[in-house]
Order: sequence, then C-alpha cells, then structure tokens
Amino acid sequence: MNKNSEKRICQNCKKDFIIEPEDFNFYEKIKVPSPTFCPECRTTRRLCWRNEMSLFKRKCDAQDHDEYLISIYHPDEKLVVYDNNYWWGDKWDPFSYGKEYDFSKPFFEQWKEFRDIFPLQCLSNSKATNSDYCNVAEESRDSYMSSGSWKIERTFYSNRITETKDSSDLYITDKMELCYDDVICSNCYHLLYSLNCINCVDSYFLYDCHGCVSCFGCSNLRSKSYCMWNEQLSREEYNDRLSKINLEDYDEILKLKKKFKDLC
Ligand SMILES: [Zn+2]
Ligand SMILES: [Zn+2]
Repeated sequence: MNKNSEKRICQNCKKDFIIEPEDFNFYEKIKVPSPTFCPECRTTRRLCWRNEMSLFKRKCDAQDHDEYLISIYHPDEKLVVYDNNYWWGDKWDPFSYGKEYDFSKPFFEQWKEFRDIFPLQCLSNSKATNSDYCNVAEESRDSYMSSGSWKIERTFYSNRITETKDSSDLYITDKMELCYDDVICSNCYHLLYSLNCINCVDSYFLYDCHGCVSCFGCSNLRSKSYCMWNEQLSREEYNDRLSKINLEDYDEILKLKKKFKDLC
C-alpha cells in the first residue's frame, strides 16, 4: 500500500506530528493502527512501561506463599508476581502456560491475555547479596536503589553502571570507586560532580578531562595535575586553595555547580 505523509494532531499533547509513508507501510505490515500520539508522547508511554526504580510492596502470588515482596508492579496491578527464588526455581512449569498463536486474532490482544496470567519476577535482580532494592541488576552486593547495573558493591541511587564500588548518584559509568554525582565517566577514583571524564583521580567538577589527578573545576584537560578552573597551580597553591573551599556546605556546592555548568 502506498500512502503520502500525513500531518496529525497528538491526542495527548495536541501538537502536530507527521506520519511518513514508510511508517504507514510498517503499520500495515504488522497489522496495527497508525498512531494517534506524537513520537514524544509515545516515548513517554514506553518509558512508563519500563519501570526501573519505582518499587512497591505487594504479596507473592506463588502457591502457598504469602510474604511481601519488593516489586516493580503496583499491588493494584492484576498480575501474577512471584518472588525471585521461586520464579527461577523448578517448582512451577513455564511451559504449562504455552499456547498456540491464533492468527485470526490481533497480536496485542493475545499478548495481553498471556501477560495477565503468566508469572512475572517481582523485579529483575539476579545473583544479588543484600541488595533487595536493586532492579535490572546483576551481581549487586550491599547496594541500594540502583538499577541497570552489573557487579556493583556498596553503590547507591545510581543508574546504568558497571563495576562500581563505594559510590553514589552515578549515571552511565563504568569502573568507578569512591565517586559521587558523576555522569558518563569511566575508570575514575574519588571523582565528584563530573561529566564525560576518563581515568581521573581525586578531582571535582571536571568536564571532558582524561587522565587528570587533583584538579578542580576544569574542562578539556589531558593528563594534568593541580589545575583549578583551568589554571595550572603548584601543588602547594592547589592544596591551599582547595582547603579554603567548604565542600561540606550544600549551598557552596550549589554555587560551584552553577559555575561548573558554564564549563560544559
Ligand atoms: Zn504528544
Ligand atoms: Zn514467594
């Protein structure tokens, strides 16, 4: 089928959006109606569907179980939710829910029927030790409220992180230790309030720095030490100036964050 592009009004946000001919062909191919929501509103809906960090308390639905679980599913959701040990175990048979696909009925209708009865994991958290509040997580240890993670230890309030230790408030990071409030960083030790950094140590408020040690409020540096706001200082000057900044004062941190924003 060949169709022209078409302008529509999103039924949710009321803004215009365009459906291209290729999109119509695709909807026709998979036998779904064309969208009535704009791409942004559709993205919002998809993100609602992927719940990573809104956790609820609900009862386990496994046979003869009545314990409470920490789950990504709200207790009012009429779904079948099992605790992780039971879900991974052999005491129930997933194949007993198997069903022939009915080509005379729409896919999503059948998929919903299936989803309403098929047992779900309370959340996805495998090989976890003392990390009940982590989701989409593997091999977490003594961690809390972190998701999209692999091999984390004592890590809190973080998302999309791998091989992280003793850190908090990280987003998209790899191999970090003693770090706080960093975004898109890797291989760093004691790096705080930084963005887009690699191999940095004992530093604060860095943007796009690689291999820097003991730097503060700098951008675009490579293999530097004792720089403050991109000014090269001696070790003594750096330590002296750093000692005068009160990093334990929240208002001070907010001021520094504002200044840091201009670097990025
Ligand atoms: Zn919209
Ligand atoms: Zn259970």
